[in-house]
Amino acid sequence: MNWSGRRVLVTGAGKGIGRATAVMLASRGARVVALSRSADDLASLKTETGCETVCADLGAIDQIEAIVKPALPIDLLVNCAGTTTLQSFVDSDLSEFNRVLGVNTVAPMVLSQIVVKDWLARGIKGAIVNVSSDAARRGVVNHTAYCASKAALDAMTRVMAAELGPSGIRVNSVNPTVTLTPMGELAWSDPAKADPVKARIPLGRFLDPDEVAEAILFLLSDGAAMVNGVSLPVDGGLSVS
Ligand code: NAP
Repeated sequence: MNWSGRRVLVTGAGKGIGRATAVMLASRGARVVALSRSADDLASLKTETGCETVCADLGAIDQIEAIVKPALPIDLLVNCAGTTTLQSFVDSDLSEFNRVLGVNTVAPMVLSQIVVKDWLARGIKGAIVNVSSDAARRGVVNHTAYCASKAALDAMTRVMAAELGPSGIRVNSVNPTVTLTPMGELAWSDPAKADPVKARIPLGRFLDPDEVAEAILFLLSDGAAMVNGVSLPVDGGLSVS
């Protein structure tokens, strides 16, 4: 893939998987537009990569159009920003459920609609990668909103692929298991909690953010020209064990 001149919008680019993706894209010659919430993260990313930055909260759904339109045109899109909440099913409250669904599912839909309308108007054969999760297929205790939001994102990915494929636009998701982002390190640093999960992963370890970024870049790239509508496990084989 020749990334040179390709303009890629990456949401959630301040930390973790989104940041690793933005850094990898920039190092391979892409022009990155990094969207995230914390200004400090974006400032350090700009220093590191020379990327453009957009500081915004994607939870404010009604503001997404005003936020994203000035960043157009782009060639490729990575919907990576994500959030969670820890609540048991019976105690899940609606406002938290809607907040998680808003950031993880509704924001990627609204943002993608804006980008895709622009591509259709200009005849651009773009590609979108939605960052989903292994949790889309599992019943993870205390993760009702998160699991529902990622399962919905996978379903939306398939519909987008079916509807937009005839226009040459590809849409896929990546579905990582535990990834050692700052948040992942915090949640999974206790061996008593982590070891039983690692034992179920045939490759025996959690992921580095760069390993998810590599899968994202593959799905964005011309190398994946006939890959459309998949939810790609990036999980060391957990899904088949
Ligand atoms: P992370 O380290 O917490 O980074 C998330 C990034 O997204 C941060 O820069 C954050 O900004 C930004 N963000 C969050 N909410 C936002 C909002 N409302 N508007 C704009 N930006 C927002 O998370 P991560 O672990 O890299 O996760 C990235 C994606 O991978 C998520 O969709 C997550 O569900 C998925 N995933 C993660 C794992 C894992 O184990 N880490 C596994 C499977 C899937 P602030 O810090 O400023 O809020």
